[in-house]
Amino acid sequence: FGTAAAFEQPITPSVRINYTQLLIDGKFVDSASGKTFPTLDPRTGEVIANVAEGDAEDINRAVSAARKAFDEGPWPKMSAYERSCVLLRFADLVEKHNDEIAALETWDNGKPYEQAAKAEVPMLTRLFRYYAGWADKIHGLTVPADGPYQVHTLHEPIGVAGQIIPWNFPLLMFAWKVGPALACGNTIVLKTAEQTPLTALYVAQLLHEAGLPPGVLNIVSGFGPTAGAALASHMDVDKIAFTGSTETGKIVQELAAKSNLKPCTLELGGKSPFIICEDADIDKAVELAHFALFFNQGQCCCAGSRTFVHERVYDEFIEKSRARAQRRTVGDPFQKGIEQGPQIDSEQFEKILKYIKSGVESNATLECGGDRLGSKGFYIQPTVFSNVQDDMLIAKDEIFGPVQSILKFKEIDDVIKRANATRYGLAAGVFTKNLDTANRLTRALRAGTIWVNCFDVFDAAIPFGGYKMSGIGREKGIYSLNNYLQVKAVVTALKNPAW
Ligand code: ADP
Repeated sequence: FGTAAAFEQPITPSVRINYTQLLIDGKFVDSASGKTFPTLDPRTGEVIANVAEGDAEDINRAVSAARKAFDEGPWPKMSAYERSCVLLRFADLVEKHNDEIAALETWDNGKPYEQAAKAEVPMLTRLFRYYAGWADKIHGLTVPADGPYQVHTLHEPIGVAGQIIPWNFPLLMFAWKVGPALACGNTIVLKTAEQTPLTALYVAQLLHEAGLPPGVLNIVSGFGPTAGAALASHMDVDKIAFTGSTETGKIVQELAAKSNLKPCTLELGGKSPFIICEDADIDKAVELAHFALFFNQGQCCCAGSRTFVHERVYDEFIEKSRARAQRRTVGDPFQKGIEQGPQIDSEQFEKILKYIKSGVESNATLECGGDRLGSKGFYIQPTVFSNVQDDMLIAKDEIFGPVQSILKFKEIDDVIKRANATRYGLAAGVFTKNLDTANRLTRALRAGTIWVNCFDVFDAAIPFGGYKMSGIGREKGIYSLNNYLQVKAVVTALKNPAW
């Protein structure tokens, strides 16, 4: 699992923290209360920086700035091409600062630096270029009417968008939310997760350098029940978009409904099945199922956290999955070649260890792992359970950690029922060479994304979202635009009906 030194002497990141205040109306400012909160290094649990702590009063200030920027412009009234150019210039700046941004993300979140630098920051750039491309291609319809009327629709920005994001992919969640909202001409108040406030502030500064007018994007760092709840229930916010747990998603939707009935998109939890059929190439299936679960320290809402394996290949699969998990390199995420860093914080760390204990107590077979690693920070051993049964807690709850649960199946009909027997429906994976089996499963599984012979493919253009209690609405791709647009029907009487 890597050397002891990797846990005891953390590598010093080569990036400076320049932005820790709230971003309101184009300026970095202290919170109204003057309060701050510490953001911690998951490698050690030590303080990285103290960050301004926004609450209801700061949300009010941020919403006023966003309202003014929306009502008075110039952003929504600019030509769509000009807006597109701002987003493209921003993408260029992100590319230029790729490595600094990645280092900041790793420091605040604990994810491997190589993952941040080679995949996540480039995806942020890609997403903004994708939505820059949409900005000037949003148009309405000419509509046929029964009477003597000329009818067309205008697709207008919805107004002030409130956005609440989680800590597992701080930059990607920023991109999924901010990209489409800006492309459509909205203004924004974004609340970042209290565990990871740093990178959003950094890239927001680059957005302003790219020409974003003041007040268009406001960022309030702070906690959920204070700043988050104030945003969701604000009377002057026209739309709310949330990513996080199902539990909190319910609260956000309730606050949105109880206040001004603002529309609400939710991207929530999951317990995604990954189904390995008897004809699968086992070595490839083992690798993909391992990636599907352990990627990002297992902190993915769409993690393939129920690995269903056909009984004929089950024993071989278990043996190879255990060996693969034991080969996983865990250590300081700044170190080269590291696959897994620490979990985000002590709360998640304790929760995961509790689930591991519950797996052992419910008589699942602990194949490997099961404990913490090192004595500092929040590192957990890659853990594999076999003989997992559907009714065990580890097969039902979202663990959000490096814990793989492997279940056995015999018949396709049966595995379809079991895979769908969950309140979640975010994603599913299918591994087979048989086209008929793949077609059957992709139609029968009730989930927002089905990955066939692949997993975690996240192009800018591919929509993402959940069935059932995994969420409402879709983000990314063309689908996200609708979340940030209003449709206005314009009906004009014709002077000469004969025409
Ligand atoms: P997690 O348990 O993984 O931290 P949450 O769903 O609680 O996930 O957090 C996701 C985001 O929701 C974070 O930005 C968090 O601050 C915010 N949040 C938490 N509680 C509330 C709440 N009551 N109202 C609005 N936002 C909240």
